[in-house]
Amino acid sequence: MKVYLNGTFVDESKATVSVFDHGLLYGDGVFEGIRSYDGLIFKLEEHIDRLFESAHTIMLKIPLSRAELIDVVKQSLRVNKLRGAYIRLVVTRGEGDLGLDPRKCAQPTVFVIADKIQLYPQQLYERGLELITVATQRNVPEALNPQIKSLNYLNNILAKIEAINAGYEEAIMLSHSGYVTECTGENIFLVRKKQLLTPPPYIGVLRGITRQTVMDLAAQQRLHVREDLLTRHDLFNADEVFLTGTAAEIVPVVKIDGRVIGSGTPGPATKKLQQAFRQVTKTEGVRY
Ligand code: PMP
Repeated sequence: MKVYLNGTFVDESKATVSVFDHGLLYGDGVFEGIRSYDGLIFKLEEHIDRLFESAHTIMLKIPLSRAELIDVVKQSLRVNKLRGAYIRLVVTRGEGDLGLDPRKCAQPTVFVIADKIQLYPQQLYERGLELITVATQRNVPEALNPQIKSLNYLNNILAKIEAINAGYEEAIMLSHSGYVTECTGENIFLVRKKQLLTPPPYIGVLRGITRQTVMDLAAQQRLHVREDLLTRHDLFNADEVFLTGTAAEIVPVVKIDGRVIGSGTPGPATKKLQQAFRQVTKTEGVRY
């Protein structure tokens, strides 16, 4: 596999960064995860926009233009002869000294990895996922806004560890005030009586690109789409619950904290959205 690193494509064995890179020392950097489906890059512009926004907020100047970065993504897929892939874009503050001071980092590190997509087991989509709520709360947005897709994912990893320790694959994270936020790497939705509900970004959730796609598709299906504060009670009593994310796409949830959701199997609205989602990934996207 060839990896783009600071201007050139190198073999993956040579794709290494310094131990003084502040991305490694402090998680000082930003990233994106993108999918391509059969030769089409899905929501490329949206992901590039979000990367530039994250970088702007942390005052990290990406040393490539948007067009150059888009070209690197396309080249990464072509060089590795990939049609369906997962692409990881990373920009770090670069090499510095052992202090925090970003001014000591002269040149950002940029790398792009395009790899075969690691698909989740099919039974996850057929049977649905069981979740638990964990004690680790989602970062307070006033302290570290989840809209910054940064290299510091410890908040999410701590929650993931709690889920794994309890024998589950994924966790629901609550806000400081006890409202539902999101899972460790996916947004959460509930369906109840023809309404599709998801927590608002201000409660401390990443404005997921799959989340937006699903909201658009749901509106086309005459579901009433709404952002609202949600409690665990709302989730327990929903007709359907599902998660969304670039890698996982749409994952049905059938049990939360021991409570069966709806019929206990993936529901009709979730299935219809999965179908519509599959269709857009086949028809929309940037060719390479
Ligand atoms: N929430 C978090 C915390 C994430 O890291 C991600 C992306 N993996 C998502 C939600 C889903 O966002 P997207 O649909 O843009 O992948």
